Amino acid sequence: MSADDGMRVLDSEFAGLAEWLTAPRLGECVMCFTSRMLAENECDWTLRWALRWQEARAPRATALRRRLADHGAYCDCEIFTNGWRMTLTPSVGTLASDTPLDGNECRGVRPGSTQPCARWEPRRRPAW
Ligand SMILES: [Zn+2]
Ligand SMILES: [Zn+2]
Repeated sequence: MSADDGMRVLDSEFAGLAEWLTAPRLGECVMCFTSRMLAENECDWTLRWALRWQEARAPRATALRRRLADHGAYCDCEIFTNGWRMTLTPSVGTLASDTPLDGNECRGVRPGSTQPCARWEPRRRPAW
């Protein structure tokens, strides 16, 4: 094994860590994932995180980009400034279990669903 091989192993371990840190959690919806990533990363004026979520969680849901654009979201931060907002109060009586709600946790979506979870509601379209 050469020193070169050693570097390659190290490189792939770093790549694996970065992959893990920026991967959607199991059942995490596109909105929660994107807002979590934006909390730690500047928006780069693309739908980087939303599309990363889509590739990882719903590879066939290619209409996601268009649906976001329909809500005025052409980059990750616009999803939240133009498209959806976090619901302030958890809706009472919609959950079968009485697990206490953690406001910071994704409520979860079924696999492959590009719908936001119950934490998010669409903003009203501005009336021009
Ligand atoms: Zn942005
Ligand atoms: Zn969510």
